[in-house]
Amino acid sequence: MQFLELGKEHLTAVMDLEQKLFPEDAWSATSMASELDASHTYYLGVFDPELIGYAGLSTSAGSFSSDIQTIGIALESRGQGLGRMLMQHLVAKAKELGSEQLMLEVRADNQAAISLYLDLGFVQIDVRKRYYQPAGVDALIMRLPIKQPIVLGIESTCDETGVGIVQGNRLLANALHSSMDEHSKYGGVVPEVAARAHLEAIRPTLEKALAEAKLSMSDIDAIAVANGPGLAGALMVGIGAAKGLALAHNKPLYAVNHLVGHVGADVLERGAVELPTIALLVSGGHTSLLLVRHLLNDVELLGETIDDAAGEAFDKVARVLGLPYPGGPQIDRLAADGEVNIRFPRGLTLPKDMEKHRYDFSFSGLKTAVARNVEKAQDAGEDFSKADVAASFREAVVDVLLTKAINACKDFGVNRLLLGGGVVANARLREEAQKRCDANGIELRIPRFQLCTDNGAMIAALGSQLVMAGRQPSGLGFGSESTLEVTQVQTP
Ligand code: ADP
Ligand code: MG
Repeated sequence: MQFLELGKEHLTAVMDLEQKLFPEDAWSATSMASELDASHTYYLGVFDPELIGYAGLSTSAGSFSSDIQTIGIALESRGQGLGRMLMQHLVAKAKELGSEQLMLEVRADNQAAISLYLDLGFVQIDVRKRYYQPAGVDALIMRLPIKQPIVLGIESTCDETGVGIVQGNRLLANALHSSMDEHSKYGGVVPEVAARAHLEAIRPTLEKALAEAKLSMSDIDAIAVANGPGLAGALMVGIGAAKGLALAHNKPLYAVNHLVGHVGADVLERGAVELPTIALLVSGGHTSLLLVRHLLNDVELLGETIDDAAGEAFDKVARVLGLPYPGGPQIDRLAADGEVNIRFPRGLTLPKDMEKHRYDFSFSGLKTAVARNVEKAQDAGEDFSKADVAASFREAVVDVLLTKAINACKDFGVNRLLLGGGVVANARLREEAQKRCDANGIELRIPRFQLCTDNGAMIAALGSQLVMAGRQPSGLGFGSESTLEVTQVQTP
């Protein structure tokens, strides 16, 4: 006997059984086909070797609730507990999808089914009189509450100390401390300064998160921590704190990938990440283009920067223009009054680059071009508009980022684009992303800004996905992995 997820290819087998089981009110083949195919449904069949039973679940994103759509077992295969097994699979699936309850309707005269559901923990919450026609039998509405795990997430990959708490796919707290101001006199994040700042901030940030969620450590079911990629010394602080908490409070610990966490953040916006998606992550430390087919099993790095990160380019160009750190917001503000009248180079977009480095980025040539342009004007004693330089620079960055991201969507036939990282604050990037996505029939996802920049909630959300999927915790042996590959979602 074998349990298999059903798809359109099983339509004939499902319809044969459906018509046998429900001769009076079988679903039409058309509606069954769209149910089997829909992204918000999960149908499971049991084969021996032919299909002898099936059951289906439906979950709408953001509802935190799933419904049993149907369940049927061939007459000659009853009495072997197949219905119970199918139901147990669907309960596990609802849990994995982040649902906080599972609902179903059952005929009031179906005693066998009702006692199975009661046994599985369902309770009757309502009745629909004479729902099943023509017999006029009542429908009982039953509900199974699902307790989702409460997960605490710790983020310390760069200059943000983040502690977030989620339950299932629901955000409970997102406390943050940034050491950005301490780096401003150096014009960029100084690793040692960041690590020391994490040490000072981690405890108060943890306390703030627990207070925000109105929870104590004893309420936490699991701890997740970003173990890379990021600054080694900064990572060590978060990892040390997470291990200490896990040991002291006897909690399972999950070491998770920071970059995949950025993708996982969207779970907290709509109760689920809709997949597949292309993800463009742009921050002070990263510029990465990912193809995510499954958050836990299938994340592919399509390309990344071969020199500076996009945010770093903003910070360096700001310095050239005499603006303080962090440069991104400064340039964004200045550019609003400028005109795009200088054609700065778009790194790795020449035809030969588009073959070899189709999804990679390079911003160091652009940075140099801006510096040359400014020096030339200054040497010649010319009056030049900083606003125009800022606007033209910003346009070049935005153009390259989006050209490559939209190419990826088209190349892989994925009509979804998710943005993450601090550079997503950029007004022009957001505006142009929306324009290009609309023009190409691509759905654009931008989580709220507190979930785009580095934060603990996204780490908790990814940890929670692992717990809900029944993954084993990590051992205590893992360390900081400053160059952790994006394919490694969890470090064992
Ligand atoms: P990291 O912590 O890896 O440096 P963050 O996600 O904290 O990255 O983002 C910080 C980066 O985002 C900085 O490089 C900053 O200049 C950039 N940034 C912030 N706001 C903007 C903006 N409006 N436009 C462009 N870049 C921005
Ligand atoms: Mg940061």
